[in-house]
Amino acid sequence: MAHRVTLIPGDGIGPELTEATRRVLEATGVEFEWDVQPAGADVMADHGGNPLPEETLESIRRNRVALKGPITTPVGEGFRSVNVGLRVALDLYAQVRPCKTYAGVRTRYEDIDLVIVRETTEDIYAGIEFEQGSPDAEELRAWLEAHGEKLPMPDSGISIKPISITGTRRVFEFAFDYARKMGRQKITAVHKANIMKFTDGLWLRVARAVAAENPDIAFDDKIADNMCMQLVQWPEDYDMMVLPNLYGDIISDLAAGLIGGLGVAPGANFGRDVAVFEPTHGSAPKYAGQNKVNPIAQMLSGMLMLRHLDEMDAADRLETAIADLIHEGKSLTYDMKPSRDDPTAVGTSQVADALIEKLQSAVSV
Ligand code: NAD
Repeated sequence: MAHRVTLIPGDGIGPELTEATRRVLEATGVEFEWDVQPAGADVMADHGGNPLPEETLESIRRNRVALKGPITTPVGEGFRSVNVGLRVALDLYAQVRPCKTYAGVRTRYEDIDLVIVRETTEDIYAGIEFEQGSPDAEELRAWLEAHGEKLPMPDSGISIKPISITGTRRVFEFAFDYARKMGRQKITAVHKANIMKFTDGLWLRVARAVAAENPDIAFDDKIADNMCMQLVQWPEDYDMMVLPNLYGDIISDLAAGLIGGLGVAPGANFGRDVAVFEPTHGSAPKYAGQNKVNPIAQMLSGMLMLRHLDEMDAADRLETAIADLIHEGKSLTYDMKPSRDDPTAVGTSQVADALIEKLQSAVSV
């Protein structure tokens, strides 16, 4: 039976990446019924000024699985990020970013195989902010003083960092389930509980409680700054890391750097009933429409989607084809070549062509 999947091409380089990925996914032999849906600044005019149309959200809720290209967040006041809007509307609370080196990729490290799980609804990202000088910021400052807390400087903007038992428990429960399903051995909880006792301290306490309920997976914890150093020095000592929103955002880019950059870093966002698969990178508008950028991060996100759909054999074949392509070093985009102006670099759609050929020849052997 065909899998019904919402396909959001996005904008910038999104449409060409999702098209290349759709072709490759279909070449695995798995059948899809794509429900193509709009989102982003380009579609606002046709949807009453809304960059995230309700029918797009409805489609994801109905199909429960989406493959999404990147979407630009225009700089300027009053424009909310479609990506954050999507996470809030669908309550996508766990972002998974596997970071794995493939032989032949240009990086300082070998044999990296990490999974980052980032909580994506809480923390300093929750969007509860008070602008410096506003009456609300002034009222909050006065309230704090009345309760024995003095801001270091009176002329402060203020962002609030909520971390709850419920939010922490559900992301750790997700992470332990994911570890078991994917055959991972160890989870490291990342925090600064030594400094922020009532937020990161709560995070660590709940993490330990969930770990005690899942004794088949090893568990430890690391302070976030130490974690950064450890990852650069001894990445092989780590397996899965679970982080609050802000540390997760920063450390997943650090981990993408370990494995060769944004062009090869896939991702997925999970809620209770829905999953949205998308690369870590953004819409790189300066390269839009040039058939130039690397589709591998988007394709590896598609590979994660195949695993989520329980199409393990197709996922393995696609991952092997991508690994072989990288190892051979020929049909790759400019960013994976020894120099950025390498004349042998191919375009986005030629990477898809080469992978389709590999997938088809593997079937006919
Ligand atoms: P970006 O990831 O779009 O691009 C940064 C640079 O990384 C590019 O200039 C390019 O050199 C390189 N790069 C990115 N993807 C690549 C690929 N597939 N192949 C080769 N090189 C690649 O980051 P940015 O410039 O900070 O953001 C551009 C826009 O994307 C912003 O509006 C931002 O808000 C948005 N964004 C969207 C998402 C998302 O949709 N999930 C994520 C991050 C950023």
